[in-house]
Amino acid sequence: MELKIKNLNKTYSNGVQALKDVTLNIPQGMFGLLGPNGAGKSSLMRTLATLQQADSGSAMLDDLDILKEKAEVRKILGYLPQEFGVYPKVSAYNMLNHIASLKGISNKAERKDLVESLLHKTNLWHVRNKSLGTYSGGMKQRFGIAQALIGDPKLIIVDEPTAGLDPAERNRFHNLLCEIGENTIVILSTHIVDDISNLCNNMAIICLGEVVVKGNPNDLTDGVKGRIWTKAIEKEELVNYQSDLQVISTYLKAGKTVIHVLSDNQPDASFEATAADLEDVYFAEITSRMDTTLV
Ligand code: ADP
Repeated sequence: MELKIKNLNKTYSNGVQALKDVTLNIPQGMFGLLGPNGAGKSSLMRTLATLQQADSGSAMLDDLDILKEKAEVRKILGYLPQEFGVYPKVSAYNMLNHIASLKGISNKAERKDLVESLLHKTNLWHVRNKSLGTYSGGMKQRFGIAQALIGDPKLIIVDEPTAGLDPAERNRFHNLLCEIGENTIVILSTHIVDDISNLCNNMAIICLGEVVVKGNPNDLTDGVKGRIWTKAIEKEELVNYQSDLQVISTYLKAGKTVIHVLSDNQPDASFEATAADLEDVYFAEITSRMDTTLV
């Protein structure tokens, strides 16, 4: 199974071009779509989830035309949107049972088996009879995945799933996604670099509506290997470094400002070489396009 997106374009009525000739081949497994806020990730996710129209281009899941055969797509799609509202007074068990019957699983015994297995899979069995309004952020996200898995989807889209989760909840959510990714295509859209480096074999970085790089996270990291230099500076000196060098990121360490610079050669003896990671790839791509250093 493969999802082939070709030359996808979308301009909103206010003139914002959210997708510019987006072309991606997405194989089975976990695929990470990484980009800053406003990059166009949700626009792409909503288009693939048949919730909005593209202006031009195509998206094919094997022989299935995602942009045209919407009713068919909905049968094989699991979607966890960025804002996932729940009915606060309904229990997880009853809600899943209800959604399953809406999705056409009419046999009561079959529905019971499905709901129970999803509650176990998402580790919500012990709270199955509690109302959804009492759930923590992580529990709500796992419930979101449970409902997205009804109907045995072939394509699963999760938009910014770990925002607002604590580290333990995030970890549990990652493990769950990994399990699911073994037999389906899972597209994970996020601005959190670690989510992608931990989970995805394939990824793309999107910025201002355009795909700027795509590939395997390790290969992309190898691409900046030996070209990332670091130095601790005073905060006031930052502008000087920015004018002379390609400062891709800054962060605070023990009260000092530490900069990462992208350069083929050591800028001067005061800089140290540092092991590159996916965050360096991301910042190198984004800062050169957005003309800003991300902190
Ligand atoms: P991301 O998910 O990466 O944050 P979005 O796809 O939400 O990015 O947004 C991409 C761009 O399109 C942004 O500039 C955003 O303001 C704009 N945008 C998103 N949705 C709409 C809409 N319904 N109408 C007009 N502009 C929109």
